[in-house]
Amino acid sequence: MSFFDLACRSCGSRRVELFLDLGEQPHCNRLIPPELADRQEPAYPLRAGFCHDCTLVQIDYTIPKEDMFSDYPYVSGTTRTLTEHFQDTARRLTAAYGLAEGDLVVDIGSNDGTALKAYQGLGLRTLGVEPAGNVAALAKAAGVPTLNTFFNDPTAETILESHGAARLITAAGVFFHLEELHSVCEGVRRLLAPDGVFCVQAIYLGGMIENTAFDQIYHEHLCYYTLRSLSALLEPHGLEVFAVDLKPIHGGTLEAHVALKGARSPADSVARLREAEAAAGLDRLDTYQAFAERVWRLRDDLVAALEAQHARGRTVHAYSAPAKGATLLNAFGLDTRLIACAVERNPLKFNRLIPGARIPIRDEAATPRPDAYLMLAWNFLDEFLVKERGFLEAGGEFIVPVPQVRVIGAQDLPR
Ligand code: ZN
Repeated sequence: MSFFDLACRSCGSRRVELFLDLGEQPHCNRLIPPELADRQEPAYPLRAGFCHDCTLVQIDYTIPKEDMFSDYPYVSGTTRTLTEHFQDTARRLTAAYGLAEGDLVVDIGSNDGTALKAYQGLGLRTLGVEPAGNVAALAKAAGVPTLNTFFNDPTAETILESHGAARLITAAGVFFHLEELHSVCEGVRRLLAPDGVFCVQAIYLGGMIENTAFDQIYHEHLCYYTLRSLSALLEPHGLEVFAVDLKPIHGGTLEAHVALKGARSPADSVARLREAEAAAGLDRLDTYQAFAERVWRLRDDLVAALEAQHARGRTVHAYSAPAKGATLLNAFGLDTRLIACAVERNPLKFNRLIPGARIPIRDEAATPRPDAYLMLAWNFLDEFLVKERGFLEAGGEFIVPVPQVRVIGAQDLPR
């Protein structure tokens, strides 16, 4: 048994027990520009632990947030699935909570403004809060008002003074990044209108466990939530989850609808998910220990599949270079011996190296096709199967690492 030398980020307990050690890893989104290729990047422990008191799963090492988010290469507008998802979410929440023209919507971690654009189209006032200067600038250029800062309680106070209370606060895919969890929760309570709703979307720990999606663990993601652990975080701040939904995006996302305590009565979905989580053992350490054992089996299977390609003289490229790809490559000790390069459509990533693995990122359109692609962004597999049908029909293969290692060829395509 090994406990983190850290108090739980949510409840302060000292009983946070290590269950998965992914080794020393560099900051996965700090892609290396070619001029720094001969310099060794720093690496930090990447270890996941389980809090025996509030059940929160978290990593223990925090790269300072100013270091992590000052220049962020991820731009949300680049995949079609995500853009459609944002539009769908905006329409759904606007209708569900009767938002009217001129109501304020605040997005925490607003990235390039893609999510808020969808609300603007519905006549709402919007304000983004985005710490990365480069993507905040993209949002402003696209006409989405954006504060280039971190969301926390002082930021909420500033917004309240300048814009008034928010009918809707959203936080999609960022609630696990936040180092100042309690200040964020206080800020949400402060900024929310009395009948306002805070909609949190976070990678769902239950889905990660079910899919063995250990590659969602990286330094930016400090916390991994279940409904139970999220509720335990929010409740001391006078916030209450009143409805939940599980979405397929990112391979399993928890969408929690949160209101000021007592403002709305909880829907059946809350009790149902709580029961499902207990039945899945998400409140027990041994569930996470079994998950860790599956991760190492996955490594053996993936290395065997890549070695088999190599032995047949076939070239393998990584198909896109998502942040989670670096976790997988570095945890499994993969490099350019088995994967020649990664191809991307995001120009911000071209000609850089994936940290640690040192695999170069190339422009997909200008790179000759390999024999097989390693699908690091396995959560978008369905979209890629449609897009790359021709590649597979011509004899190409996809190597899918998660939830099980699979090699997909033309014979596996639906007719
Ligand atoms: Zn805890």
